[in-house]
Amino acid sequence: MPEIDVELKEVVALSGRDFHAKGLTWGRDAGDTSLFDPETGYVYILPMPTKQIQIPDWSTIEAQHVAVVDLDGRNVGDQEVPPTVELHTHLHVYRARPEIRAIVHSHGRWSRVFAALRKPIPSLMMDQLHYVGGEQIQCAVIGAPGSERAAASLVECLGAHGKSALLAAHGAVCLGESMEEAMSVAEITEDMARVAVFASMLGEPPEVTLADLVGEEGIRDLLAKQAL
Ligand SMILES: [Zn+2]
Repeated sequence: MPEIDVELKEVVALSGRDFHAKGLTWGRDAGDTSLFDPETGYVYILPMPTKQIQIPDWSTIEAQHVAVVDLDGRNVGDQEVPPTVELHTHLHVYRARPEIRAIVHSHGRWSRVFAALRKPIPSLMMDQLHYVGGEQIQCAVIGAPGSERAAASLVECLGAHGKSALLAAHGAVCLGESMEEAMSVAEITEDMARVAVFASMLGEPPEVTLADLVGEEGIRDLLAKQAL
């Protein structure tokens, strides 16, 4: 069995403290992060709270609290450290998107406004197309945390290139090819949601489309490249 990399446990523990400091979780064990190691096929992920692992919030998390599972969800690390209840959602995304190396599942203040409405975050700023990979940040159908129904719908909302999507009445799931990127996508998602809330109070903001950035001809070029 491949060895567990302690450094990767450190990266995930640090991301837990970091996303708490950035306000991407409101406390307790709300939200979680994970990292996929393609060499071993292991997923390093924040834990579920237990009697031994008290989680007042993620600022207290250390490397020894990070769970390690394989892509089938089997715990290959410390048996006293179970993965978060959201594990299934993370695994679904890693199986569907092999280029993805990290996930930040946030419970951010602004994205949760749209998750409550079960509506997509409209594409009002160019950042959304540049960094999030889709014109709108779609919202998955409602389902229990970590359920097959919610996870399958989330993967559908992310599509082949999307890096951010919402879980209805719950939070956001942000992807990256590194933990830094996933964290940054989570912060951009919050900013886009905040802009959308305020812009809608002042008027009816128009949405930015891919054609605004690359023109109709650019879209034809992109489609032709995808077809190859
Ligand atoms: Zn959650």
